[in-house]
Amino acid sequence: MTIQPSMSELDSWRAKPRSSSAAPITVAFGDGIGPEIMMASLKVLLAGGADLDIEPISIGEHVYLAGNTAGIAPEAWDSLRRTRVFYKAPITTPQGGGYKSLNVTVRKTLGMFSNVRPSVAYAPFVATKHPGMNVVIVRENEEDLYAGIEHRQTDDVYQCLKLISRPGCEKIVRYAFEYARTNGRKKVTCFTKDNIMKLTDGLFHQVFDEIAAEYPQIENEHWIIDIGAAKLADTPEAFDVIVMPNLYGDVLSDVAAQIAGSVGLAPSANIGAHCAMFEAIHGSAPRRAGQDLANPSGLLLAGVMMLVHIGQGDAAERIHNAWLKTMEDGVHTYDIFKEGVSRQKVGTKAFADAIIARLGQTPKTLPSVAYAGSVPLKVPEAVPRKIARKDLVGIDVFVHSTTAIDDIAATMKAAGNDMYQLAMITNRGVKVWPNGAPETFCTDHWRCRYLAAPGKQFNRTMVVELLRTLAQSGVDFIKTEHLFNFDGTPGYSLGQGQ
Ligand code: NAD
Repeated sequence: MTIQPSMSELDSWRAKPRSSSAAPITVAFGDGIGPEIMMASLKVLLAGGADLDIEPISIGEHVYLAGNTAGIAPEAWDSLRRTRVFYKAPITTPQGGGYKSLNVTVRKTLGMFSNVRPSVAYAPFVATKHPGMNVVIVRENEEDLYAGIEHRQTDDVYQCLKLISRPGCEKIVRYAFEYARTNGRKKVTCFTKDNIMKLTDGLFHQVFDEIAAEYPQIENEHWIIDIGAAKLADTPEAFDVIVMPNLYGDVLSDVAAQIAGSVGLAPSANIGAHCAMFEAIHGSAPRRAGQDLANPSGLLLAGVMMLVHIGQGDAAERIHNAWLKTMEDGVHTYDIFKEGVSRQKVGTKAFADAIIARLGQTPKTLPSVAYAGSVPLKVPEAVPRKIARKDLVGIDVFVHSTTAIDDIAATMKAAGNDMYQLAMITNRGVKVWPNGAPETFCTDHWRCRYLAAPGKQFNRTMVVELLRTLAQSGVDFIKTEHLFNFDGTPGYSLGQGQ
C-alpha cells in the first residue's frame, strides 16, 4: 500500500499557512520509489512557498491488482476533474497482459494533448557529453500510431493505423510556439517524415509552416526526423524547442534526457485545456524502493513546472534556483554522484533538506531561472474547421490471397465495368500490377485500386455493387478505403512505383 504523509505532516512543511486561495492539486504517491520522491518533492515545494491544497488519490499497482485494468480508482477521476492539476509519482505496471497504460488513459481521457519535456545539461556539475544542451521537446500526446487501432488482416500482415488530425496538429504546434514565446526561446524546430508519409506527416509539417508564419519573431525550421534525430544526438546545442508527432516525440524525448546527463533529472508536463499532469520521466525503480536512495529531482522539477502552470511563479523560481545551487554545491544522490566532481553523497531525504537549506539562494555558475510574475501559458484551442468539397472518386479494396498476381489481377479486373475499373494493385504499397517488377517480394495482402472510368462519376452504390461482385467471385476482401478528392485534391497516396 502507498505510504503517504498525514495532513498535519504536510502542514508542518509549509513556509506559510495554507491560504484560502490555495491551489487545489491532486497528488498520487505511486509505487516503488514513488512515495519517497513525492514526499521529498512536496516537502521542498511547500517549504519553498507553494500554496497548495493537496488531494491524495490512489493509482497504480494495487489498483491494477484489485481488478481495475486502468490502474486508477473510479473516484480519482472526480478529484482530477475538480482540481484539473495532477501531480503524479511513477507507478509500477504489473507484469502480464491485460493492464492498460494508466498514463495513456489519463492523458487521452482528459485531453492532455501536449507533452513538454525539457532536457538540460548541468555541466560541469553533472557528467554530460553535451554541456551546452538545453532542449525542450514538445510531443503530440493523443494521436499518431498511439490511437492503438490495430488489426490482423491476413496470415502475413498486421496493421496499425496512424491517425493525424488538423485540430491535433494545430493545438500542438501552436502550443510549441506559445511555449517558446512565453519562455523566451528563440527557435522552434519541427521533425516529421513527410518525404514518405506525405498526407499524415505532411499535414503536421504544413500546419507547422502555417502557424510559424504567425510568429515572425521566432525562428522556425523543419528537419526530416532521421537526420534530425542524428543531429539531436550529436549536436543538441543546435536545437531549442522541437515539436513532433507522438511516436517520434516518445522516442526522442528519452534520448534527449539521457544524453543531457541523467533520466533521473528530467521532468515532464502533460497539458490540455481541462487538466494538466506533472511527473518525472523515469519509472518506479522498484529495486531502489524503501532505501532512501532515489533522486527526487525529476519529480521536483515537474513540480516547478506545475507551479508555473498554476501561476505560482515566485515559489517556482525560488525552488528551482535552490535546486540549481544544490547541484552546483555538489550535493548529489547516488545516480549522479561522481568522485572528484560531487562533494557529498546524500539520500532522498537529505537531498530535499539540502535544497530547503538553500531556498533564497541562486546558482553562481549555472544560469539562474526567472519565473516570478510570469503569466501562465494559455492553452490553445483548435480553430473551427474548414469544410472542403468531398468527391468520392474510387475505392481501394484490400484482398487476402496467395494466388499469383496475374490471376488476382484477372479476377479483380473482371469485377470492373464501364463505370469503374481496376487501376492498380500494390503489395505493401509497391505497385505490382500493371507492369510489376519480378523481384518485388509479395505477401498475401493486396491493395486493389478501382477508379471511376474516364468521364464517369463514382458513388457509394457502386461500392456495394463492386463488393457484391467480388464476394460472388469468392474474393476474400478484408478491408476497403474510400478514395476522396477534397476541393479537387486527392486525399490518398499513389502506389510506390506508380
Ligand atoms: P525505471 O525508470 O524505473 O528505472 C530505470 C533505471 O533507472 C533503474 O536502474 C533505476 O534504479 C534508475 N532510476 C530511475 N529513477 C531513478 C531515480 N529517481 N533515482 C535514482 N535512480 C533511478 O524503469 P524500469 O525499471 O524500466 O521500470 C520500472 C517500473 O516503472 C515498471 O513497472 C514500469 O512500468 C514503470 N514505469 C512507470 C512510469 C510512470 O509511472 N510514468 C514510467 C516508466 C516506467
